[in-house]
Parts: sequence; structure tokens; C-alpha cells
Amino acid sequence: MKLTLVRGDITGQHADAIVNAANSSLMGGGGVDGAIHRRGGPEILEECRKLRAGHYGKGLPTGQAVATTAGRLPAKWVIHTVGPVYSASEDRSELLASCYRESLRVADSLGAASVAFPAISTGIYGWPMDDAAGIALETVRQADTAVEEVRFVLFDAAAYAVFEARL
Ligand code: ADP
Repeated sequence: MKLTLVRGDITGQHADAIVNAANSSLMGGGGVDGAIHRRGGPEILEECRKLRAGHYGKGLPTGQAVATTAGRLPAKWVIHTVGPVYSASEDRSELLASCYRESLRVADSLGAASVAFPAISTGIYGWPMDDAAGIALETVRQADTAVEEVRFVLFDAAAYAVFEARL
């Protein structure tokens, strides 16, 4: 598997699948989630609503992943995953690792060869970047997947530098 780092906005990435740092409601939010829905258009939210009306009536549980169309984004699918909120008193690393693993599992089920990830949980959910980067890179490296390219899309120079150092 080819592992690459890019600095930029994930909504501009050409990839088979783009991963959304969603929240369990699947109804949109801030950060990556807001940007994906803004730029991807209403079709994505429409599919999210259907997911909530069907299998995910109570929302998407933390650490799990589900795909929708990518709407107007330059990708075929958006894979929505819900990162854990960071806690200093409780180790939630396994849930963060699960987001990456489950997203790749969904990507495999779709036949996606390239997947772009943001740094899940490092924004509104407060996970320290260095620790999150270690979990992200290690989990993706060890994943049993047919995905050929995993790209981490880091929003700012600081996040990029942390991932680069860890890689
Ligand atoms: P979470 O709720 O999982 O913490 P956020 O979307 O708040 O998710 O943030 C996750 C990371 O993505 C943060 O490091 C944030 O700076 C970054 N980010 C925010 N917007 C974008 C974007 N458009 N493209 C790529 N990364 C982004």
C-alpha cells in the first residue's frame, strides 16, 4: 500500500473515497463534516437521512463507518466515520483505530482503490495531533486491505509536520 501525506482541504481531493470525520447523527456538523456537505451538495445529506431512517435509527456508533455518494465532490464515495471524543482519563485509542480499520473495510466492500483520510478526532473532538497521527499511521499500515493508496490530508502546516515526523 502506498501511504502519502498532503497538506490541504480534503474536499478537493480526487480519490475513490473520501473519509468524513462525522458525528453520530450523520446530519452534518463543523470542520471536515461541514466542508464535505457544503461542497458535496444536498445529495450526501439525503443519503444520510435514509441511513438514519433505516439501519442507523440511533445514529452511527463511534468507531464504525458507512458509505454514501460523494455528491459533487471529485470522489465516488464519502465514507462517514465517527471518531471518539478525546478523554485524558480514559483510553479511547481502540475506538480511534477502529475508525481507520472500519473505513478501509467499507472501502474494500466498495472496491475503492484510493482513500483520503482527515486526521480524525483532532479537531472539535480534541485529540492531541501527535498521538492521533501515531494511531492513524500504525492502524492503516497494519490493516488487511486491498486499498492501494491511502492519503492523509492535513489541513495545516502544523498537522502536516506532525504526520511527516511520525511517518
Ligand atoms: P473531529 O470532530 O473528528 O475532531 P474535525 O472535522 O473537527 O473532526 O477535525 C478533524 C481534523 O480535520 C482537524 O485536524 C481539522 O483541523 C481538520 N480539518 C478541518 N477542515 C478540514 C478540511 N476541509 N480538510 C481537511 N482537514 C480539515
